[in-house]
Amino acid sequence: MKALKRAFLFGEMMHKNFMKRAIELAKLGGSNVFPNPQVGAVIVKDNQIIAEGYHQVFGGDHAEVNAFNQATSDVSGAEMYVTLEPCSHYGKTPPCALKIIEKESKRFMLQQKIQIHSSLEKGYNY
Ligand SMILES: [Zn+2]
Repeated sequence: MKALKRAFLFGEMMHKNFMKRAIELAKLGGSNVFPNPQVGAVIVKDNQIIAEGYHQVFGGDHAEVNAFNQATSDVSGAEMYVTLEPCSHYGKTPPCALKIIEKESKRFMLQQKIQIHSSLEKGYNY
């Protein structure tokens, strides 16, 4: 029972650390992404970060796509931590929600840190 509780607490700590890292990455976008929000994403597999990305410049690829592009190993079954819910519309770039489904990320953790995306529901229900 104790071991189980320890394992759970360890998991919680890992989740927080991954999200913290995603927020750090998001900040790297600075004012270059204006008027888009700063977004950071981390891809985790087997409790290891296998890729990181952030939205670097307005009109450029989104954080999730940059993270996928950076991944050096297979991302299927991985988890993604992203500071904003993935977009589900075709704007300057294709929707990230679609990309995540394609890549078979098992689940993604996200935090509404900066602003609530207008496509909130759609992003989840893809
Ligand atoms: Zn997007």
